[in-house]
Amino acid sequence: MARFDSQLKDCPLCGQAFFGTFDTMACRRCEGEYRRLRENIRNYLWNYPGQQATLTSISHDLNIPLGIVKAFQKDPRFQAMPDDDDMADKRGAFVRELEERRRS
Ligand SMILES: [Zn+2]
Repeated sequence: MARFDSQLKDCPLCGQAFFGTFDTMACRRCEGEYRRLRENIRNYLWNYPGQQATLTSISHDLNIPLGIVKAFQKDPRFQAMPDDDDMADKRGAFVRELEERRRS
């Protein structure tokens, strides 16, 4: 299965390149810290389900740099990331791409 292949990735915490499988999101040195932050974000979303939490509010309230919060969107274990304009843009681009493919 391709998903077990290692690929070159950027660690969102320290910026170092490392080899990891599809669900390895941080380098070995930052893995523990990454898990801790992921728990914090998960708890935050759990505690404020009705609130319009955005990437920016998570970043601000949990004191995590926005670039790192965004990295969590790519984590396959993390499906419950909130919407914001940035994500709406990406969805728009994705839909456009699908429509392009359908036409060709
Ligand atoms: Zn790292």
